[in-house]
Amino acid sequence: MKINSPLEAYKYLPQTNCGECGEATCMAFASKLIDRSGKTSDCPPLVKEKKFAKKLAELDRLLAPEIRQVTIGAGEKAVNIGGDDVLYRHKLTFFNKTKMFFDVADNMEEAALVARVKQIAGYKKFYVGRNLLLDGVAIRAVSNDPVKFAAAVKKVAEVGIPMIFCSFNPAVLKAGLEVAKDKNPLLYAANKDNWKEIGELALEYKVPVVVSAFNDLDALKTLAKTFAEAGIKDIVLDPGTYPTGKGLKDTFTNFLKIRRAGIMGDTEIAYPIMALPFTAWMAGIADPVSASYWETVMASVFTIRYGDIMILHSMEPYATMPEVHLAETIYTDPRSPVAVDSKMYKVGNPTADSPVLFTTNFALTYYTVESDLSSNGIDCWLLAVNTDGIGVEAAVAGGQLTADKVKDAFDKAGFDLKTAVNHNTVITPGLAARLQGDLEDKLGASVKVGPMDSGRLPGWMEKNWPPKK
Ligand code: SF4
Repeated sequence: MKINSPLEAYKYLPQTNCGECGEATCMAFASKLIDRSGKTSDCPPLVKEKKFAKKLAELDRLLAPEIRQVTIGAGEKAVNIGGDDVLYRHKLTFFNKTKMFFDVADNMEEAALVARVKQIAGYKKFYVGRNLLLDGVAIRAVSNDPVKFAAAVKKVAEVGIPMIFCSFNPAVLKAGLEVAKDKNPLLYAANKDNWKEIGELALEYKVPVVVSAFNDLDALKTLAKTFAEAGIKDIVLDPGTYPTGKGLKDTFTNFLKIRRAGIMGDTEIAYPIMALPFTAWMAGIADPVSASYWETVMASVFTIRYGDIMILHSMEPYATMPEVHLAETIYTDPRSPVAVDSKMYKVGNPTADSPVLFTTNFALTYYTVESDLSSNGIDCWLLAVNTDGIGVEAAVAGGQLTADKVKDAFDKAGFDLKTAVNHNTVITPGLAARLQGDLEDKLGASVKVGPMDSGRLPGWMEKNWPPKK
């Protein structure tokens, strides 16, 4: 049984409120344990004092996620996969966004290999205040030659990005491990033919490993159980990913069955799942754009339903952009909307004659408005009012966006409309039109109602700015 409330976690803490964890009280620390922003190792007395050893072990067991969390890679760029507690996001949240690894082959020309790895490592897509990245490189041992594979691993490792070693040949995997001992790569894969040798490699080099049985869940579970009994804890499951037809339907069903069993307490199969959307390229689709499209469709399906890590091929923007956006969206914590800091932002180079607008601090709203303004060359002042990350319409209805809150935000930003600008005018979002009268009273300023949609701001500005005296 897991624990879900700070009060339950509190029972296992020293209860001295010593503050060594950085929190004023043990109860505050217990809340951090429950929302996973803190770890038991952050409480020195619990870790150091022998009398708490039993409680620490018990607490770690009770806090462990239903699905094991596995780390791939080392250092700053290491990624975690798995770690979920629920089947449906709205019941809590999903943890550890689906990780996207892109393939390279060990028989590529060195320059092409290095260029592709750098392209993967350097990928960056700005989205609502953060950069969406790709996570790692899957090195396929097409040559089946340990020497060639080791040379490719060495080149990829130099870029410093998490790696998956792809081969069913233990000698090839061992050669790769020898040149990347401290990089904690994921081994793909142990199957019914090679499990003994691959299991020994995972134990010897202390690296995570994929167990693979195509469309055979009994065999998959047996492999995972055998590895767990041998002391291998960091296991990833590959039930096979078929690209089309009945095979694809079976794949989808297998993902659901595995995750449902894991969440319901079947610890023998409670591991992260690997999806292989790049099998779209083996589906006999002749046109590369169509194959890429199908790969993206498969990636989307398995991002939504329980793929914790995937191997992909197409680096075209029309493939990667929907993939990274979808993962970001599905794994957003529904308990805390994505928000920007509540403050006054400068868009472009505003002066005392530039318009002053406000919106809410919901990141999607803020960046939509900001981009509609900046991409149209409108220099202005844009205030993000703290509405707990809620959009304009809902915040007005729910009372998070009121004239008092807007006034408060101007005060906190130190922005005095009478002295900071020459026009003493504020533009309110069209969806907050009903605040106009109240705002004029509270701010002592002229309030103009902007358009309902920030995309119409350029046209609105042409007609309404500067304000008539
Ligand atoms: Fe409590 Fe441990 Fe934090 Fe001290 S360090 S306040 S004992 S949780």
